Parts: sequence; structure tokens; C-alpha cells
Amino acid sequence: MKLKESDFTTDFVNEIKAMYAVDLKDTSALEQFIALGQLLKRYNADNWTNTSKGYRKNDLKQVYYFSIEFLPGRLLQSNLLNLDILDTVSSGLKKLGLNYEKICQAEPDPGLGNGGLDRLAAGYMDAMASLGMAGNGNGIRYRYGLFKQVFMNGYQVELPDDWLRNGNVWEVRRENRACVVRFGGHVWLQEQADKTLRPVYDYTDDVLAVPYDIGMVGYHNGVTNTLRLWSAELPPSADHTYYSQKQRDNINDITKVLYPDDSSDEGRSLRLRQEYFFSSAGIQSIVRHYFLEHNNLKQFAQKVAVHINDTHPTLVIPELMRILLDEYDCSWDVAWQITTATMSYTNHTIMQEALESWPIDMFKGLLPRIYQIVEEIDRRYRNEKTPIFGSKVVDNTAPLGNGQVRMAYLAVIGSHSVNGVAPLHTELLKKDVLADLYRIYPEKFNNKTNGIADRRWLELANRPLTKLIDQRIGMNWHDNPKQLQTLTAFENDTEFLHQLAEVKLTNKQRLAEYVKENMNITLNTDAIFDVQIKRLHAYKRQLLHVFEIIREYQDIKDNPQKSVTPRVHIFGAKAAPSYHYAKSVIKVINALADLVNNDQAIGDKLKVVFVPNYGVSLGELIIPAADVSEQISTASKEASGTSNMKLMTNGALSLATLDGANIDIVKAAGSENEYTFGLTSDEVYGYYHRGDYQAQKFFDGNQELQRVVNALIDGTIPEISTEGREIYNSLLQYNDEYFVMADYEDYVAKQKQISSDFNDVKTWQKKSLANIAASGTFSADYAVARYAEDIWQVPFDRILK
Ligand SMILES: *Cc1c(COP(=O)(O)O)cnc(C)c1O
Repeated sequence: MKLKESDFTTDFVNEIKAMYAVDLKDTSALEQFIALGQLLKRYNADNWTNTSKGYRKNDLKQVYYFSIEFLPGRLLQSNLLNLDILDTVSSGLKKLGLNYEKICQAEPDPGLGNGGLDRLAAGYMDAMASLGMAGNGNGIRYRYGLFKQVFMNGYQVELPDDWLRNGNVWEVRRENRACVVRFGGHVWLQEQADKTLRPVYDYTDDVLAVPYDIGMVGYHNGVTNTLRLWSAELPPSADHTYYSQKQRDNINDITKVLYPDDSSDEGRSLRLRQEYFFSSAGIQSIVRHYFLEHNNLKQFAQKVAVHINDTHPTLVIPELMRILLDEYDCSWDVAWQITTATMSYTNHTIMQEALESWPIDMFKGLLPRIYQIVEEIDRRYRNEKTPIFGSKVVDNTAPLGNGQVRMAYLAVIGSHSVNGVAPLHTELLKKDVLADLYRIYPEKFNNKTNGIADRRWLELANRPLTKLIDQRIGMNWHDNPKQLQTLTAFENDTEFLHQLAEVKLTNKQRLAEYVKENMNITLNTDAIFDVQIKRLHAYKRQLLHVFEIIREYQDIKDNPQKSVTPRVHIFGAKAAPSYHYAKSVIKVINALADLVNNDQAIGDKLKVVFVPNYGVSLGELIIPAADVSEQISTASKEASGTSNMKLMTNGALSLATLDGANIDIVKAAGSENEYTFGLTSDEVYGYYHRGDYQAQKFFDGNQELQRVVNALIDGTIPEISTEGREIYNSLLQYNDEYFVMADYEDYVAKQKQISSDFNDVKTWQKKSLANIAASGTFSADYAVARYAEDIWQVPFDRILK
């Protein structure tokens, strides 16, 4: 949009006055942020209204992306950038004597997700709007986000994240679009005069789902899509009916907290209620919207695509069936045809414990009508497939089995498309996790490699690098990130490589200031900034990184005279509150950090920083400062990874196993520009197949490794006798489930290579440049364009060259 600086400053001062009835100089940064958000919403109001109207008028096919979590990060800067008024506003605020950075930081970072898959969902919302695609998000408005992490005595402590304390300026409550979601009670089928059966519900617990809409502003295109988050409230009848406090709590609890666990489903019944709640509310509102412009169901699947992000929204399948059967009198076959043509599903993990399933008794009690429908899906699936594929394969893949409702199987059977998120991951789905379903439905399976919101992670998070790139190749890459490739022309340009190094240093200094201020640790910005930021999980192997730090520590202690390339090891990671092992690793890292950082003999050769409360905003600070990107999961376990892409586009070199999208990163940037190591996925499966992995052998065969592992239990690291022993036992007594011992030697060899290569600044920066130049292909814009073409069949405006 066009905006004159003087108009903006006038508008802003008026907004402040109207909202707070005080002078500008008496407002806090938070108040300034809220007023600015309010003003932006006003500036963008026509875009938002016209976008919805335009989709309706042109009867465009709509995509509805269902995800139980979205992790959008702060929206102020990305909205300013996408509206093309960032410079005007920041300079206007400066003119008013205000601190633009402080205002940005006053925005709460909504922690409405756990990690990668939720960040992906938010990134795809941005990409859909930026492509000019009719894309909507559908999720839950959690009253409390993921916990706030603090460390006490090195242990993780979880505090509530009261992110709505001051409201959410970006949202619009739409009570007139609310709908009722039914739980429990009894359901029976009553014959109607025309002999059809209609379900009758008795004694249900009704919950009102109220939507809160957030505008998703497209990049420089005037488009604003909608992310709709549902909140659970008392039904309208509550004024006339008695509700006990317990009943009130039961309703309010549905959207009160985000499950702080991204790998298993605890607190099961409430989680299942959350899943049905937002699935049902979303589908009801889609059907309602569809009938605004249509008077029969014939075109439903041509006008609506529903995407299931991981299994949590799978109940959209029986919910759409329910509405078509019970409310629109469709025959089963017609309803099923419409449903499967509408639905598509992304699988995000091969970890067995993350494949959701629900005990049938619980499911039936909570969702009696939905259960009847799932039973019928199951019955028809068995009848149709058993004669062709035999009962063993069908038993293994049916929606109901072992007393459970199996969500991933239901999602595959009820969708027309099933995709993995990196080529290796998709292959493993076909070969292993969903192999039997792949036999039955080979045509459904496809790959869509994850992508990142590069405007957030490069343009906004790393302004110095953006400016430098703009100077060299102009600004076309902002619209078409693959054009970053033209940077390779400067791979031998000493001046440019020097400037790249300067930019990195600037970003390292910015991070060092934060660390000094918040953690009182002084960082040597000449050191290698070696970064591992992601959820704390055994398969992500933060432990392997810990081993390298112990090795470096022991090496410096043994050889005080030896010259070393200094290192700063940076961690950011939350552990699920119930994940005991992960919390032990946190304690060990913090204890090791204490030991290393306070040892005079170590000085600034080595530092360990575990930044508490990792989230999107900290990522934006840490990633631009990284030299090395640790992507060291056990091969086959990380479906794709996306921090690997964010770090790459900021010029970090990957130290990586051949897992997930690491493989594609190495291919894109060239293996000579990354450090790969360790078992391949085939080798890991080989061990499984033969059952002959022996961690002890690796231990016995490597004295250095013995010393490192023994440091966990011999008092080298103080105050970890319990945690150190637990981890030690996981390796040697329980045979090292994630092959840390097997990969140690190769990993350390690559770390040593990095230490030596880093000293050749020019060669290092050349590799860094190769990473930046090759990173455009991982933009979410391309990923979403491929979903649109191959899966959703929806048009979009922007042409990506
Ligand atoms: C990108 C991102 C992730 C995903 O990181 P991986 O290393 O791919 O697991 C997790 N959390 C946040 C806050 C992120 O921005």
C-alpha cells in the first residue's frame, strides 16, 4: 500500500490518543505496539474484506489448512514488510522519538505450537496469501501457549505462557459465526416418514465454538487471507440452563492449554476433545460458507480442499461424512466420494509413538455418532479390500484394530492424497510405516518437501545480509527466492566474501549482546558459533553434540598450550514436561555449561550457551549468527527438518546426517559445502533388520569415547550424578537406541575438520555463500505452489520463475 510518512505519524498519534487518552510520551512500548497493530488493521481492512468478497464473487476453490497448532511468531514486522510500509513506519516512529525495535519486541510471541510442524503451518499461511491463493487456516485459540521455559539450578521449569494477558490486537472475534459442537450423550437412528434414518441425540454436552480470525497478509499483493482459531465457550442456552462449575470448567478447558508434547498424546481424553472440537467447528463453517453460493453438493469437492496437517485433524473425515449423511441426506457412496475427493493428508513422522490412536471405549463415549461412522468406514473398507489383499494386510491397516481407532490409517483411507515431507521420508512411509496402505493405494502417495517462510527468516531476521544481497543482485529474489542462485557469480569475489564475513560478525555481536545481557556470559565473536536449536528429543541427539563439547573440554585441559579454534556452542530447546530423559539432557548441558564457562583455564576458547525459552523470536536472533548448523538426528528419524533450511539461508554450513531434508540441502548446495557424517538410513535399517547393534563394541573400541562417556558418571561434570547415570545407562545398558556411539567417531572427525577449515576465512565464506545461493529452492512459496498444483488443484496468481 501507499503511505506517506507524515500521514502515518498523524494517524499514529491520533490512534494513541483515541485508545489511551494520554500523550504519546506517556505510553509504554506495549501500548505503542497495540496502537500500531490497531492502525495496521485499519489500513488493511479493505484488503481483507475485498479478498474474501473476491473469492466469493469468483467462486474460487478454497483451501482449508487444518492444524491443531500454528506457530506464527510475531506479526508486526512481517505485516509491515508484506504491506510494503516497513521503512515508512519505522522511520516515522523514529521521527516521533520512539524506539522501533522496542515496539517490535513488545509484541508477545504467541506460543501456539510445539515446533516444526506448527511453524510449517504458519509459514504455509503466509505463502498461500503471498501466492494470492484462496487459503484459510483452521486451528485452536489456546488461552495459554506452550509453557515458558526457565532454568532453575540447571533444571527446566515450566511457567504458564499467558500470551493473551493484553489481548491479541490482530484477531477479530466473530460470535455471529459461532457453531455448536456436540460431545457424549446417546445417539440412535429414528425412522422418518420417508423411511430414511435420522440420528437423534439425547443428553449431549454442547459446546459453543467461537471463531477468532487473524488476517494473513500477502506479500505486496493486496491479498489478506484468514487464519481462523476456535475458542470453546458455554453454549447460548447457558443463560437459561443450570451449569455446574465442573461443567463450565469442562467446556472452558477444551481450549485452555496447548499440549506441550509434540510426540505423544497424553491427557488423552481432553486431547481427543480438542481434536474433534476444531475439526467439527471448521467443517461446519466450511459447509455453511459453501452453501452461501451453492444450493446443492454437486460441486463441493471442486470448490473445497481440506488439508489434514498430521493426524490431529483426521476427524474432519467422519465429521464431513456426518454432515453429508445426517443433514443433507446424501447416500453413503455419494458422501464418501465427496469426502475423499476433498481431503488430503500430510504425514510428519515415522516415530511409532507419534502415530495417534484412541481406545475405542473412550472414543465411542465421547463421540458416539462419529464412532458409528468410523465403524461403517471400517466395515466397508474390510469388505472391499479383503478379497483383493487378504485379511492380514487389511487387519493391519483398517481404521479399527487392537481396540483402537487408528488415526493415520483413517486419514489415508479417507483422503485422495498422502504426502511425506522430504524424499527420504516419503520413501520410508512407502517402505515401512505405511507400507501396507501403500500397496493398497499406491496412487495416493506423493512427496512435498517442506519449505520455510524465507521472508521472515532472511529478509526480516537478517536485514544486513538482505541489504548486502540487494546491492549485488537487486531485489528480484524477494519475489522469486530461487534467483538467489545468481549470487554464485561472486563466489570468488574477495570483496563480497569479506562483506559476507562482516555481516556474520554483526549478527554474532547482536546475539552476544543478548547473551551478555540476559545470561551474563561473554562470548568471543571470533569463535565458531555452533548452533543446535530444536525440540529436545533423543532422536535429535543433542547428546552427540554434548559429547563433542566434553571432548573439546578435555582436549583443552590436556593441552593448554595447543592452539585451538575457539567455539561457542549454542543450544535452544524445550523438553516436553513429561519427557524425563530429555529433561536430564537439559540438566547435563547446563551443568557442562557451568563447568566450562567458569573454568579460567578454558577462557574464551570454549563457551556453552543454553538460551532458555527457545521460540520463533529467539530463532530470529540466533539463526543469522550461526556459522555451523547442527542437524544430527539418527538417519531416518527426522522427517524433514526446517531449522536446517533457515540456517542454510542465513549462510550457516550444515553438520548433518543424511536424514530428512538434509539430503536435499546437501544436494542443492553441493556436498563440498557441508559436513556430512554417520550411518545412513539404510544402515540404520540394516541394524534393525539383523538386530545386531552393540553399543558396547563402539565403546570398547574407542578410548576417547570411553573417556567422554565416563565423564557423565565420574564426577567430571558436577551435580549430575542421577542424570549422568541415567544417560550412561541408556547408552550401555539399554544399547543406545539412537546410535550415538556408532556415529561418534565420524561426527568428531567432521567437527575437527570444521575447526581447521574455519580459519581459512575466504574458503569458509565461499561455502557459506554456496549455501545462501542454493537456499531459495526451500522457500515455502514453492512448496505451497506444488501442493496447489498436485494436491489441492487450486489456482494462484503469482508466477514463480
Ligand atoms: C523452525 C522451528 C522449529 C523446527 O526445528 P527443527 O530443527 O526442524 O526441528 C522448531 N521450533 C521453532 C521455534 C522453529 O522456528
